[in-house]
Amino acid sequence: MSELSGYGLAIELEDKPREECGVVAIYAPEKFGPRETLPENIAVALGNLQHRGQECAGIAASIDDTILVTGELGLVERAFRGGEYLKGLDGNFGLGHVRYATSYRLESSDPDKNKALRRMGIQPMHRSIDTPSGKTQIALGYNGHIQNIDELAAQLIAERGRLTEAEQVTDTAVMTSLIAQRIKDGDSVSDALTSVAKSINGAYSLTLWSKENGRDTIWALRDPHGFRPLVLGAIPGGGWMVASEVGALEIVDAEYTSEIAPGDMAVINRDGIQIENLFSPTPRQCIFEDIYLGRPDNIMNNLMNNLRIERFRIASGHELAKEHPLNVAGVVVGVPDSALSAAKGYARELNLPSEDGFVRNRYNPARSFIEGNTESRQDRIRLKISSVLRENVEDKVVVLVDDSLVRGNTLKILVSLLRIKGKAKEVHVRIASPPIVEPCHYGVDMPNKDQLIAASQSVEEIRRTIGADSLAYLSVDGMYRAVGVVDERDRARGGIACGFCDACMTGNYPTDVPKEMLEF
Ligand code: SF4
Repeated sequence: MSELSGYGLAIELEDKPREECGVVAIYAPEKFGPRETLPENIAVALGNLQHRGQECAGIAASIDDTILVTGELGLVERAFRGGEYLKGLDGNFGLGHVRYATSYRLESSDPDKNKALRRMGIQPMHRSIDTPSGKTQIALGYNGHIQNIDELAAQLIAERGRLTEAEQVTDTAVMTSLIAQRIKDGDSVSDALTSVAKSINGAYSLTLWSKENGRDTIWALRDPHGFRPLVLGAIPGGGWMVASEVGALEIVDAEYTSEIAPGDMAVINRDGIQIENLFSPTPRQCIFEDIYLGRPDNIMNNLMNNLRIERFRIASGHELAKEHPLNVAGVVVGVPDSALSAAKGYARELNLPSEDGFVRNRYNPARSFIEGNTESRQDRIRLKISSVLRENVEDKVVVLVDDSLVRGNTLKILVSLLRIKGKAKEVHVRIASPPIVEPCHYGVDMPNKDQLIAASQSVEEIRRTIGADSLAYLSVDGMYRAVGVVDERDRARGGIACGFCDACMTGNYPTDVPKEMLEF
């Protein structure tokens, strides 16, 4: 992954699982960060979460006493027209969101209609609710996946007979409307939010901003498993910030203080911050955040003593080299950018030279969504690798390290580029994570099982498919050694004992997944 700070572009190689959202919430009593206003600083923070969602971006901020949401389809810079859309918005509280949606409950053959439907997915979602004591406003930003969305939708239908078009388009609209309905029925925001959270089966890292009787509050909560990340930072001058990753905090000068622990809710208002425990925690944090999804500067809360993810990636390269050494290699090359740290670790462990093998075209953000066409995906990969650094690999036995292997399309192309354009003598592929054999049901966009190459092919078959001279994966045990799990028995019992979800690699789903989803 690659990010540019500020209003950043994120350009990824295809054929990788993707996050499905990033969230930001800020209370700042004083000016802070690199930009003038709070909404502009939220946009800057969202730029550092762009890798978590590229379909649309939105910001909720104030005009006088009204919460207003602005946003559009596209990357952060485009969504706010380089800041144009944020003019006039200000205040001390605000939310931001980037979204990557994988599927819609409504689709249309009319492109304009589809665009309109997709716009309905822009978050934060806003509701203005008439209550007996006055008007309450809420805005909600969400990252995760709700497995029992049909149950939640049925509750809304029972209340008012039908779903709106937006509620048919996105699960976040259903959740926001349910909270709004409870508030309308007389619940406080706190009661409405916690009762809806308790009825969700699935993964959620959620931020909500409420204006209740003129009082602003930010609520940030994480499901008891903590599948998706959520971190807390202090803003100079007495404010607080919540975000999906640490990179979003640091770019606006907030200082990371802790994660919001699984099952906890942070309540932030002008009086300060309180942490409440809503659920007894059963941590199952997504190990794939650390392998690939998260920025290298994000902090690994679980084990690794709060070290940056980059340290885990280097350690996974060391473990990979211990398990599958190739001492005769002339050079170690990483797949840019997310596997460069693992390649560094692999090379260091075996005292081998490490070089760049490819130059990426960082300014070709061409991207399409939900495309099943293999040829067009392959064309896009070619466009994103602008050249092979031939002098680094020519006539050499090359170890090509990648962080993960999903369909195999990318590696097949990279192996052939090293052979044909780089004139490499041999290309041996090493993967710094175990084979991905199952889809994710907790908020990461994975292909269906029939598209996961390791679900149907042996290592030898995959080697032949990608055209490598050899292929080897890091073991599950090696992955947990890299994370820092020292107890061998814990490692042997896998993710559940180690506090991680590794279901896409082991099939051990930490929650009940409906049978029809398992067969998907
Ligand atoms: Fe992460 Fe894989 Fe678990 Fe999904 S199934 S939460 S991608 S480890």
